[in-house]
Amino acid sequence: MGAGDTTIRCGNLIGSKWEHRGVEGIRRLNPANVRDVVATAPDSSTEDTRRAIQAAADAFQTWRRTIPPERGKIVLRAAQLLESHMEEVAKLLTREEGKILSDSRGEVQRGIDVMEFAAGMGRRLGGQTLPTEVPHVFCFTTRRPIGPVAAISPWNFPVAIPCWKIAPALVCGNTVVLKPSPLTPATATRVVEIFQEAGLPPGVLNLVHGGTQVGTELVNSPLIRGISFTGSTKVGMAIHAAAAQRLAKVQLEMGGKNPQIILRDADLESAVKALLTAAFGSTGQRCTATSRAIVDRKVATEVVERLAQGTKAIRVGPGDRPEVQMGPLVDEARLRDVQGFVQRAREEGAKVVVGGSEPEELRNGHFYVPTIIGDVRPEHEIAREEVFGPVLSFIEVGDLEEALTVANAVDYGLCASIFTRDIGQAFTFVDKIEAGMIHVNRPGLGGFSNFPFGGYKHSSYGAREVGDDTINFYTDIKSVYIQET
Ligand code: NAD
Repeated sequence: MGAGDTTIRCGNLIGSKWEHRGVEGIRRLNPANVRDVVATAPDSSTEDTRRAIQAAADAFQTWRRTIPPERGKIVLRAAQLLESHMEEVAKLLTREEGKILSDSRGEVQRGIDVMEFAAGMGRRLGGQTLPTEVPHVFCFTTRRPIGPVAAISPWNFPVAIPCWKIAPALVCGNTVVLKPSPLTPATATRVVEIFQEAGLPPGVLNLVHGGTQVGTELVNSPLIRGISFTGSTKVGMAIHAAAAQRLAKVQLEMGGKNPQIILRDADLESAVKALLTAAFGSTGQRCTATSRAIVDRKVATEVVERLAQGTKAIRVGPGDRPEVQMGPLVDEARLRDVQGFVQRAREEGAKVVVGGSEPEELRNGHFYVPTIIGDVRPEHEIAREEVFGPVLSFIEVGDLEEALTVANAVDYGLCASIFTRDIGQAFTFVDKIEAGMIHVNRPGLGGFSNFPFGGYKHSSYGAREVGDDTINFYTDIKSVYIQET
């Protein structure tokens, strides 16, 4: 299978130059049709990475002195450019990552929203003025950028996640080296091109394609002062350990095993609708995907029936077809992982209620049908580990207290939701659930572009991303005391 006319040849951006050396190192296939070679990109070396880091370090001294509103204006221009290219970028995202076109449009919109919010930080990057403890001293705090930072991103949100790392990093005055996932080189390249077109000076934003070799160099380089990572918990923990050796700042967004609780007084129609969206949207390949339905025994039969009906009705296929509601998994390895989880769930005594197979008629891509697993006990692997695919475990409980015990009995704590009409139970849930993003009578997805994004336990570490909290990662504080003379 050769690269065709429609194959996008991605390069690295180092300083002011796009470089295309070794461009065949990464070959990205369309997950809905593996005969379509979407992109090629360099599998970059340590040396390439070092040059990109040096370019970011060289650009830092000038960029940090560019006034914050000016930095914000460039990011706002990038948001406007992305908006004007919405359809083109969304189509590329669907072709490269596989999610359905409406989800891709939603993701691009999310990127635009967080960039607009971050642009405004350029006029809000303030410190505090506090009273003095001794006479005749004027004191205040001020924020400064931390330096060149690395943004290491996953494949599942290849537009939104780079945008929500790059935009606040730049507005806060840092320079950036982006290392995207080798599964989404073309989308990442397009995002960087748009930032460049908005008017960034050379070296302020750099792009290095590749895998672990590039990531390791970024994590270990003494010139990189902060690492903003989104990906699996295993890799996040390894990055944390390595960065600790030189006390580099880290911001880690990792896996999830998100529950949706349904109590007996819930509006079951909207509860099931939310489950279908949160479990199977983006083929379950969202860190925030609901993967555990924790349901009051009194309404369990009715919920399962409605859920099974809704799940069977989901149309699976290539994401660029308007009638399709769920696209493929991102690659062969992910498909095998999902198959393995379902197989082991069967072996542990759980039961496949719906799905559990590859659709017969879709053999050109990595498709798996939406799947519900019943008779799941909290100790089963399928109830504890992140599957990252369209697989929902169904767990029955007696009341809210038991639901909370089950919900909290995992290593993760990213997001969670509850369906109930009882305000008291809803507040108990908000108080006791171990999760960073909490929804009541809403699907348990991420959140808004002006709210912190992140979780508890093994889901997150460091300052939250998105919203104002991310300033705490991208800046350091100076406390200043001035004696009146
Ligand atoms: P991954 O951990 O395999 O890879 C993430 C990134 O890290 C990639 O760019 C990869 O090349 C790089 N990397 C891998 N090994 C590295 C190393 N040793 N040093 C430095 N970099 C390294 O994750 P993935 O498969 O790309 O993404 C899926 C995971 O991301 C899921 O676990 C999902 O839950 C998580 N995720 C979390 C959030 C969140 O905000 N919490 C959002 C999206 C995805």
